[in-house]
Amino acid sequence: MEKLIGKDINELTSIAEQIGQKPFVAKQIAHWLYTKRIHSIDEMSNLSKQCRNKLSERYNIGLKAPIKVTVSNDGTKKYLFDVGIDTPEYIESVYIPDSDRATLCVSTQAGCRMGCKFCFTGGLGFHRNLTSSEILNQIFSIPESNTLTNIVYMGMGEPMDNIDNVLKSLSAMTSSWGCGWSGSRITVSTVGLIPGMKRFLSESDCHLAISLHNPFDDERLSIMPIQRAYPISKVLDSLDDNLFKHQRRLSFEYICFAGANDTIRHARELVRRLGKRHCRINLIKYHNDGTGEFIGSSQQQMEWLCNYLNDNGIRTTIRRSRGEDIMAACGMLVAKETKES
Ligand code: SF4
Repeated sequence: MEKLIGKDINELTSIAEQIGQKPFVAKQIAHWLYTKRIHSIDEMSNLSKQCRNKLSERYNIGLKAPIKVTVSNDGTKKYLFDVGIDTPEYIESVYIPDSDRATLCVSTQAGCRMGCKFCFTGGLGFHRNLTSSEILNQIFSIPESNTLTNIVYMGMGEPMDNIDNVLKSLSAMTSSWGCGWSGSRITVSTVGLIPGMKRFLSESDCHLAISLHNPFDDERLSIMPIQRAYPISKVLDSLDDNLFKHQRRLSFEYICFAGANDTIRHARELVRRLGKRHCRINLIKYHNDGTGEFIGSSQQQMEWLCNYLNDNGIRTTIRRSRGEDIMAACGMLVAKETKES
């Protein structure tokens, strides 16, 4: 059975033709999938019984509920999905409620090949790309699906390394035939894969977040191998400021490591490199992975860095740490489940 979730309007039009229907039926199917978010083809009540039967011969909706949820004291929930075909293959999503916002952090790959040294997922290695259907399933199959206000593509995997499926899922989220969300409600992160990033900038209007973590080339290389192929200076050069002047936002993610990237030397270099850009920096507390190889900055040092950057013209915030008690660092729950299964 093929899944309907994740199909774009062109694919749905071909499916409508295959079952002997007019092209407008594709829009009706898309409405059921992306606006009504139904779970069975039988619920498509404005399609004839014969049409629904024909559709059901080859397709199903394709939604698959998470197999586990872990709930934090602060309301953050970590969902575990099994996307395996013959053997289990786990991915995770994190639901983060916060006063008037409800954000879901989704994965784009099972594992990741980028190998960032501080990242648990990086240590799991690359397994495979997720399909657009598997990316959207994380959004549509959780109980909070209809209350989400924001989506961030910052879970397991590097989105620009799976750009076709990421763009297809974004198109379903933002197109008028799909969920009709504004691109400003979705942020996609990258370590700086320039080819994928360029396609993302030209083919979507969602926000971009670049994982920076160190402004010095040699120091960044020691924790992020991607720096060798795509140095951060080239990544910055490739960004056209005009793309970020209006609705689209450019931000830099910066995990703070004690003494390693939170000193005055780093602060000055951040201002030198980013000061003239229309951007913001999110300082992130490091979730200790238990190896002791990396140590997160103190709250006091993060506040100092935040104030320094704001005083020097870069809008900077400290992202509130969420779900620490449920292993919210990306990939930790998957690693635990894989070990136990
Ligand atoms: Fe991959 Fe992101 Fe982890 Fe780097 S930080 S290894 S890109 S999941």
